[in-house]
Amino acid sequence: MADIFPVVLGICLDAEAIWLSKSPANRDRPVLLSTGSYAIREGLNPLLDLLDANDAKASFFVPGITADRYPGAVKLLHDRGHELCSHTYNHLPVMGLTPAQERDELVRGIEAVERHSGVRPTSWRSASWEWSAHTLDYLVDEGVEVSCNFQDSLRPYRHLKNGAPTPVIELPVHWHLADAPYFLYGGDIQRRVRPVTEVETIWMDEFDATYDWPGTYFQLTLHVQLMAHPSRLKMLDRILKHMKSRSRVRIMTCCEVSKAVS
Ligand SMILES: [Zn+2]
Repeated sequence: MADIFPVVLGICLDAEAIWLSKSPANRDRPVLLSTGSYAIREGLNPLLDLLDANDAKASFFVPGITADRYPGAVKLLHDRGHELCSHTYNHLPVMGLTPAQERDELVRGIEAVERHSGVRPTSWRSASWEWSAHTLDYLVDEGVEVSCNFQDSLRPYRHLKNGAPTPVIELPVHWHLADAPYFLYGGDIQRRVRPVTEVETIWMDEFDATYDWPGTYFQLTLHVQLMAHPSRLKMLDRILKHMKSRSRVRIMTCCEVSKAVS
């Protein structure tokens, strides 16, 4: 890690799951759900083309329900060489689940992605960037090797249990390096959508400053339905080109970065 600066694009393909998980009543709101459907219908292909043009492989976090609804999208991601990662089954926040439900969500989510990609995912993100007291045990049991949830470091690190190392590597994330706080809108979430110039400044400034901190890495947390709009894709293209202009930058998948952590 000392001679390279890993950059991870952790991209959620939530589609309708993001709204279905917030309220059962949203099943009957086709227009609200359509903001998630955009990811499949319109957004995914131009995003994949942009990644190809920048020679960038991303890590795509797919809820099991989305994988089952859109198996062709999962296959497409696999065929284009991206990492398929798990993102629970129903995209439910862990805080409202019993331990048995949490384990079931984890297992079914992994199995759905495996069923449609042919590869068992080893990287995982919860639906809400939260863990319970049981999460680490469940991740170890299911062979998960990468978590992208905690916000306590700028560096990948290994999770410990009772002071002993586990197989689970954390690739920390941060709210200010995610698209949702700036672009997520709809349902009960009513706030000012930010201009791309503002978000680009925040992400570029943070990248440039982090690059100078030895031993760190950089992850952007994105959603296909939020980022794959024309002006936002142009912004992402500028950011990728800027990052790749720095000599130590390597755009890597979660799995690849985790292998470099001792
Ligand atoms: Zn999500």
